[in-house]
Amino acid sequence: MASFSSQTETNIEYAAELFRKAKYAVVLTGAGISTPSGIPDFRSEGTGLWSRDEPMEVASLSTFRTDPERFFVWFRPLAGQIFNAAPNPAHIALAQLEEAGRLRFIITQNIDALHHKAGSRNVIEMHGTLRTLSCTHCFQKAKAPQYLKAFIEQGELPRCSGCNGLMKPDVILFGEQLPQKAWYEAQRECRQCDLILVAGSSLEVLPVAGLPMQAVDRGAHLVILNNARTYLNVRADVVIQEDIASILPAIAEQALNG
Ligand SMILES: [Zn+2]
Repeated sequence: MASFSSQTETNIEYAAELFRKAKYAVVLTGAGISTPSGIPDFRSEGTGLWSRDEPMEVASLSTFRTDPERFFVWFRPLAGQIFNAAPNPAHIALAQLEEAGRLRFIITQNIDALHHKAGSRNVIEMHGTLRTLSCTHCFQKAKAPQYLKAFIEQGELPRCSGCNGLMKPDVILFGEQLPQKAWYEAQRECRQCDLILVAGSSLEVLPVAGLPMQAVDRGAHLVILNNARTYLNVRADVVIQEDIASILPAIAEQALNG
């Protein structure tokens, strides 16, 4: 069991109490919840992926269209890390909260499917997912694992079994629209929740970063669990700036057993 300062203990207790009292809790997760699973935040400076190439350029729709091989070369190590990653205690804590009826929806900025691997069911993936790929010619969808293994291990580009067209991972690239269905669902959840937990997101990527504000403006409580300041810290009931993989399980444990 991790031990925390008394201030942190108090914050954990308060966050857990908010979960116990909430009638409709939702969570917004970002890259910070997956870094303990070994997945780099490719938008953050200082990661290996950033220094080799500018992700906003190489991970863009225009690069994918004009030079897909360059995109796939950049994407391969990231895909490997994601494919082999396992959910950490923070993902598992959220799945337990959902299972116990304490959490309605997870809205995530991540593409790594770790919430699904942890057993969460109601997950809205704002930036798409690496769970599936779609053919760029005939739009046939396919589950990713059958293609990803050969791509990660041999660098074989994923090709459609129907028309041999190039398959694009269903992740939202820079310059690409957010999936409309996910956006509507996320707004719906944020407008009806009475508690929103921001976990591992610095709330810097628009428009998703604006979602918690919609909840707070309608009177929802706000808990922020992130290692960097966010623009909404001033509106939060509780802010905890510590290791998410130990704090979130502590909150869930107290919310479920306290
Ligand atoms: Zn096809």
